Amino acid sequence: MKEIKIELTKYPKDKPTDESKLGFGTIFTDHMFIMNYDEGQGWHDARIVPYGPISLEPSAMCLHYGQTVFEGMKAYRAKDGRILLFRPEKNMARLNVSNERLCIPKLDEAFALKCLEKLVSVEKDWIPSEEGTSLYLRPFIFAIDAQVGVHPGKHLMFLIICSPVGAYYPEGLNPVKIYVESQYVRAVRGGMGYVKAGGNYAASLKAQDEAEHQDYTQVLWLDGIERKYIEEVGTMNVFFVIGDEIITPALQGSILPGITRMSAIDMLKLWGLQVTERTISIEEVYQAYQNGQLKEVFGTGTAAVISPVGQLKWNDKIMEINNGKIGEISQRLYDTLTGIQWGDIEDNLNWTTEIK
Ligand SMILES: *Cc1c(COP(=O)(O)O)cnc(C)c1O
Repeated sequence: MKEIKIELTKYPKDKPTDESKLGFGTIFTDHMFIMNYDEGQGWHDARIVPYGPISLEPSAMCLHYGQTVFEGMKAYRAKDGRILLFRPEKNMARLNVSNERLCIPKLDEAFALKCLEKLVSVEKDWIPSEEGTSLYLRPFIFAIDAQVGVHPGKHLMFLIICSPVGAYYPEGLNPVKIYVESQYVRAVRGGMGYVKAGGNYAASLKAQDEAEHQDYTQVLWLDGIERKYIEEVGTMNVFFVIGDEIITPALQGSILPGITRMSAIDMLKLWGLQVTERTISIEEVYQAYQNGQLKEVFGTGTAAVISPVGQLKWNDKIMEINNGKIGEISQRLYDTLTGIQWGDIEDNLNWTTEIK
């Protein structure tokens, strides 16, 4: 059986004292996980080591051609002290889907999950406890072959780093303003929009930057061919409540299959609500808005869980949704999913994994 070597740091860092000022993703813990892949040897040398710089050849393939994939998940500290992960096996399965698309050798999912759990266990004192805080976990893989020819890498590294993060909404759930992007596109079918590959985010930066300049939080992407059909928001999937129907774009190759999206769909169905995965155009959303049928819009993703949308701007048309306030379904989903994640609600669905 594969083992995980552990080398503990001799120089533990001071942990953040004010958990209300954690922000997102700038503080890293004492240790990280590393495993190497070399052709002929497979994945080997799983180890937990002190967090610190790694060295790469300037010719390392990932730096030139972006053969790199990642995941994003969280460890939560329950009020009773338990440490919980939320559907982590889904992240590992998705990581392997990303690997497959980018010609990265697959991981043994059960073993990768064991490595992640071990790292969380080593770093458990870093998991903040104030309401809404968590330990963000970032598994990622990249090719390190020292050569500038374009080929799938034969030498890769898998790392996991951890970052204590603050409450996404310190002042409560505030609806965000979203800019409907009609010029740039994020991904096309046949591309890699359905996987968490670094390049997708490089492709999104320009639109995101322009949206921010206009005081919008994120962009809503339309399809890459006709700029008609809705895909997703920057780093979130998106849902529309139109009349009695809750609609989210169907996964068709260019949309990232979010685990929060999947969990929201499961939950809405359990509640007996009508949730449909289908094609939906921005025109349909605008029509519904004009007819007074557009009741709620919300994004789903690990970072914010549920992010209510208060305003959509599509060219010169501005849609104010639910008077800029959070809707009933968004609030209920937020309360239920976060309740399960932080262990406040009984987890009848077996979605959480406890770390000892
Ligand atoms: C990660 C991500 C999401 C949300 O996925 P979750 O598993 O719910 O966190 C949605 N869209 C994009 C583009 C993403 O990268």
